Amino acid sequence: MSELERKPGAAAVPADWTYAPAPEARDIVTLRERYGLYVGGEWLAPHTGETFTTIDPSTEEPLAEIAQAGPEDVNNAIEAARDAYQNGWSTLAPSERAKYLFRIARILQERSREFAVLESLNGGKPIRESRDVDLPLSAAHFFYYAGWADKLEYAFPNRAPRPVGVAGQIIPWNFPLLMLAWKVAPALAAGNTVVLKPAETTPLSALLFCDVLRQAELPPGVVNILTGDGRTGAELVKHPGIDKIAFTGSTDVGKAIQRELAGTRKRLTLELGGKAANVVFDDAPLDQAIEGIVNGIYFNQGHVCCAGSRLLVQESIYEQLIAKLKRRLTTLRVGAPLDKNTDVGAINSRQQLDKIEELVQTGRDEGAEIYQPPCRLPERGYWFAPTVFTNVAQSYRIAQEEIFGPVLSVLTFRTPDEAVEKANNTPYGLSAGVWTEKGSRILAVAQRLRAGVVWANTYNRFDPASPFGGYKESGFGREGGRHGLEPYLEFD
Ligand code: NDP
Repeated sequence: MSELERKPGAAAVPADWTYAPAPEARDIVTLRERYGLYVGGEWLAPHTGETFTTIDPSTEEPLAEIAQAGPEDVNNAIEAARDAYQNGWSTLAPSERAKYLFRIARILQERSREFAVLESLNGGKPIRESRDVDLPLSAAHFFYYAGWADKLEYAFPNRAPRPVGVAGQIIPWNFPLLMLAWKVAPALAAGNTVVLKPAETTPLSALLFCDVLRQAELPPGVVNILTGDGRTGAELVKHPGIDKIAFTGSTDVGKAIQRELAGTRKRLTLELGGKAANVVFDDAPLDQAIEGIVNGIYFNQGHVCCAGSRLLVQESIYEQLIAKLKRRLTTLRVGAPLDKNTDVGAINSRQQLDKIEELVQTGRDEGAEIYQPPCRLPERGYWFAPTVFTNVAQSYRIAQEEIFGPVLSVLTFRTPDEAVEKANNTPYGLSAGVWTEKGSRILAVAQRLRAGVVWANTYNRFDPASPFGGYKESGFGREGGRHGLEPYLEFD
């Protein structure tokens, strides 16, 4: 509240309802000028001698110099992981492994403010989301899998579960720490060791995580972190010393990895893209559905593999719903990621912004109608206003391809059959949402949707106990829950 008007004898009435800035303090994070590779519990300079700069995408300000790991570094990290696997970690009493995981979880909780600020600084996501979603969920994953570490025999009775060996893990930039937690926690709980490559644009939280590993006194080599670009990922995939690859990212790279591993004994799980349908029936609680639609596509600037990027609305409520949705969009606050009032932060990189802009242009060219609420975008950094496309045909690229940005494509349907047919008309199959008052309709529709996760009267809800993963071009294998342990275990 910036100003108060007071008439003589009257109570104070605000004249201006704009929010004052509420920035989270950045100085809780101490950045080094340059980071090495974390191998065998030590910080090492890369053999390539190469580094690259990581930036704050909301200002383009350089944050730190990051090491580019090459083939020799990949080899050394895998050797360190193998050594740790053979000389202690895989044979450690499971209850002892659990203690390390519990310790990591508790340290993440204790240092959550620091991690949340860093995640927003390096990734562009609103602090409200890193603070309330990324960090609590990351800690929860470690807590959850710590609980399984000494109960594998009960999770898989009569199957003699054993660790797989050394896991190579490659993660994307949309949830840097959370994706690390999704991968590292089940791998360690099952007795494996890890070499993980964070995404090129968002390496900082994985590097701060190395500090947590030291604090937890995790034995050296159990987790190794290699920074670098796609070349580092490719080296990790093809290295013969890896027993399992877990990848989250684009469908194109996922397919390339699958081709590379075909015919080898290496195991693979792929969590790839999506083009989820959020289906709203005419008996849905509309205001609640509006919140779910907004959360479905504008959460994390739409950089979410399971984002509800295709809205399917029953024709009879179309006009009313679109009017409400547009009104709601005018209240979204786009701006500084570290401001606690921000709803939509910065786009993660120039490359991603270019991709969003290109796809949005195809939407205009193909004949869809665009709506963007009035909002002033900062001059520096990478920004894109929340966008809704109406009059979208199923054949348009904006209805088919993953935009991975704050862009919603709206289509309509008349009957449940038509809704299911349109929802399934995509090469992907990661997630979907159903909004209706009828429980029987939720069950009937959810059963027919080809999606790994179906949310009913909610969207983008995650829980470490719940498996997550896709069908078709969204990949295979599950992360989370008991299912998330299986890819890291051998059975009789
Ligand atoms: P990528 O699939 O390229 O990146 C994911 C991870 O894989 C990164 O760590 C990346 O490194 C690494 N990588 C890149 N090339 C290879 C390779 N040949 N072998 C092994 N690892 C590799 O995604 P992008 O960042 O390029 O994003 C492109 C598009 O992918 C987005 O626009 C979005 O549509 C989709 N995407 C989907 C995600 C999901 O969760 N489903 C997550 C991220 C992106 P580096 O960061 O250096 O490129």
